[in-house]
Amino acid sequence: MADRTPWSLSGALRGMFAKKTIDDTTWDDLETALITADFGPDVTEAVIDDLRAKVERYHTTDPKDLQRMLRETMEERLSKLDTTLKLSERPAIVLVVGVNGVGKTTTIGKFAKFLRTYDRSVVVGAADTFRAAAVEQLATWAERAGAEIVRPQQQGQDPASVAFQTVEKAKRDGTEIVIIDTAGRLQTKGGLMDELSKIKRVVEKQAPIAEVLLVLDATTGQNGLAQAEAFLEHAGVTGLVLTKLDGSAKGGFVLAVQERTGLPIKLIGQGEGINDLTGFTPHVFAQQLVG
Ligand code: GDP
Repeated sequence: MADRTPWSLSGALRGMFAKKTIDDTTWDDLETALITADFGPDVTEAVIDDLRAKVERYHTTDPKDLQRMLRETMEERLSKLDTTLKLSERPAIVLVVGVNGVGKTTTIGKFAKFLRTYDRSVVVGAADTFRAAAVEQLATWAERAGAEIVRPQQQGQDPASVAFQTVEKAKRDGTEIVIIDTAGRLQTKGGLMDELSKIKRVVEKQAPIAEVLLVLDATTGQNGLAQAEAFLEHAGVTGLVLTKLDGSAKGGFVLAVQERTGLPIKLIGQGEGINDLTGFTPHVFAQQLVG
């Protein structure tokens, strides 16, 4: 099962765990595997220090014990933050932000489907009003997911007014979840952050915002995080969505990004299909990661 996910460490660590005893090469092998999987130097060092201390404390030389301890350490670290989505308000308003190309529109489509599967009613707001193609793409996803959509009446309409109309529609219709797509053009960072602030200001007057989800492409690792810094600083992000984990050998990014930003991962995308989005469960992820 774990082997089917490219980000799993189980292949890299198989030789190590198959050994008879823990020795010095074990620690080197583990370090290489963690660095290669994009855990980053800080997390790698902290995890290895933690495991060395545990191995000593429990007087074990069995690599199988080390595997279990690694799994537990991963789960413990991933569980430090609350990864559950807060969607109990009615309507629960979710703002989705991120740089173009990370998979934002696809994620919204998948998320709408995910919620529809649990019989929650959903309306999507197309507040990325400058890209006509983005609105059309979102409309196609909304239809496939069985969600309603509010589109701009003309190209370039004030994004905050589309967000406003979406929330109004949800209140009128008694729709449970509002998902608002936003622009992700990087060239005009300042303008974009002002645009997002305005959307937030307008929407917050109507109802509290439940989540602001920042979408990150797992294949871009630390670079993607640097690109998204402005969102982290200005958008009031409450949680992260990692996309394209299916195409990444970098499962460690999940932990690195959580520890770097102090924000929980709330959803993970593992494919281009409408069902390829899941909630993030530290226990399951640690199990798949370590094997
Ligand atoms: P946006 O510009 O951020 O809205 O990005 P899109 O939603 O248009 O996605 C950009 C590309 O990434 C598309 O080709 C998507 O099919 C692809 N994509 C999105 N999410 C995933 C994922 O989880 N896995 C894979 N393999 N591709 C994805």
